[in-house]
Amino acid sequence: AHAPGVVRAGTLVVAPPRDTNEIDRFAARTSGHARVDEGQIAALEPDLAGRFRKGLFFAGEGHVDPRAAMRALVESLREAGVELRFGADGSALGPEAGVVVDCRGFAARPDLPELRGVRGEMIRVRISEVRLTRPVRFLHPRIPLYVVPRRDGEYMIGATMIESADKGAVTVRSALEMLGAAYALHPAFGEAEILEMSADVRPAYPDNEPRIVERVGRIFVNGFYRHGFLLAPAFAKRAATLAFERAEDRVAI
Ligand SMILES: Cc1cc2nc3c(=O)[nH]c(=O)nc-3n(C[C@H](O)[C@H](O)[C@H](O)COP(=O)(O)OP(=O)(O)OC[C@H]3O[C@@H](n4cnc5c(N)ncnc54)[C@H](O)[C@@H]3O)c2cc1C
Repeated sequence: AHAPGVVRAGTLVVAPPRDTNEIDRFAARTSGHARVDEGQIAALEPDLAGRFRKGLFFAGEGHVDPRAAMRALVESLREAGVELRFGADGSALGPEAGVVVDCRGFAARPDLPELRGVRGEMIRVRISEVRLTRPVRFLHPRIPLYVVPRRDGEYMIGATMIESADKGAVTVRSALEMLGAAYALHPAFGEAEILEMSADVRPAYPDNEPRIVERVGRIFVNGFYRHGFLLAPAFAKRAATLAFERAEDRVAI
């Protein structure tokens, strides 16, 4: 509701012809999908016509460009009179600062030692010869990947999952796997321009579930793992409720 550009067109899941049993495995572990055959896949994504025999369609899913969403959210907060300061170190803020909601991601590890880092890499490409209208998840026994359409022929190919807190540049192996998956989805991706390759560290608790915890006088909102954008609205609401309660407690004291 607050971010522009949310597209609600569902997502499609396909697998290479020799790995179609991966579709059954994925179907058994998820809900909200319908099985689709070659003709239905072609109707949903004409550019994939004749390429995949079986798939799953999750009609209720959507997608968003996170960077565009963040820019728009910052703008609307500013318009609402919220002061935002970037580049300021919040790690040393004490109780004099008021209620502190700490969402430093993996950087909060000194206070949340149970957090671990899960490295994720992605590649952004541009190609006008392929037109996909929704994210396509490409199942592969070793490395399941997805391709998300953005504006103006751009696609985001992601994302690796590596048990490591190393934020270093994308490795050759990961680039090969991600680009190979895009090429297997549609060979025209072979002609795409590479716009960006980048890596980051996802903060995760041992069970991969996010948590709101109060510790050392702060409210920590962390552990979003692969789902920070998906779960942000629900957790922001819960964190805000708790922060207002704590602000009232302070007034009462
Ligand atoms: C390649 C990749 C693909 C992903 N795909 C998806 C997806 O499809 N859907 C989805 O929902 N999620 C996805 N995620 C996961 C999502 O990006 C994370 O869950 C999310 O970024 C976690 O959000 P966060 O705000 O908790 O932490 P972060 O995004 O890590 O943000 C932490 C912030 O804290 C700031 N900070 C750090 N230290 C300090 C300090 N001392 N003082 C002040 N500020 C500080 C940092 O600069 C940063 O801005 C993906 C992640 C990666 C890496």
